Amino acid sequence: LLSGCHRAAGRRSLSSVPGVRERTLIAIKPDGVQRRLVGQIIQRFEQRGFKLVGLKMLQVSDDLLSQHYGQLRTKPFYPGLLQYMTSGPVVAMVWEGYKVIESSRMMVGHTNPAEAQPGTVRGDFSIHVSRNVVHASDSVEGAQREIQLWFKGKELLNWECCDHASTFG
Ligand code: ADP
Repeated sequence: LLSGCHRAAGRRSLSSVPGVRERTLIAIKPDGVQRRLVGQIIQRFEQRGFKLVGLKMLQVSDDLLSQHYGQLRTKPFYPGLLQYMTSGPVVAMVWEGYKVIESSRMMVGHTNPAEAQPGTVRGDFSIHVSRNVVHASDSVEGAQREIQLWFKGKELLNWECCDHASTFG
């Protein structure tokens, strides 16, 4: 395995592949943590081939949430959303990889779990929009904004993942 990694790494630098450094914010919401789904959700992103570059568990503040969900402030469900998101710890992660934003939205599934496809996180683990287990950034701009909001620069690690090199070799 090691020699394979070294060969692949020598053949082509991973960072030369366009889009491979894309990053997204994935957050396991309080219901996901309460229901012990953290491991299964992380496993899906690992086995898809994405790279974990940031991970922390936190009790989210009202201030962070109002910035994160600012555009939903006028929605009738907003007070309930704040209550839900502060009801317990959240596991926040930054995942990196080729088209990770679009791919993770597909992996997470429709906002409303009743409309989410089986095989998606929401389609497999939830039934109601007010308890939909996980957050995933929905655009390049959104991901950049959310990652800066949730993580300090030094909390994100740049590391080379040798098994990815062969994917693009
Ligand atoms: P997404 O999380 O899929 O990007 P939105 O940005 O539209 O979806 O909504 C943000 C979050 O607000 C949802 O994930 C969900 O937790 C909550 N939410 C959205 N719509 C409703 C609703 N009708 N009732 C309760 N909560 C909602």
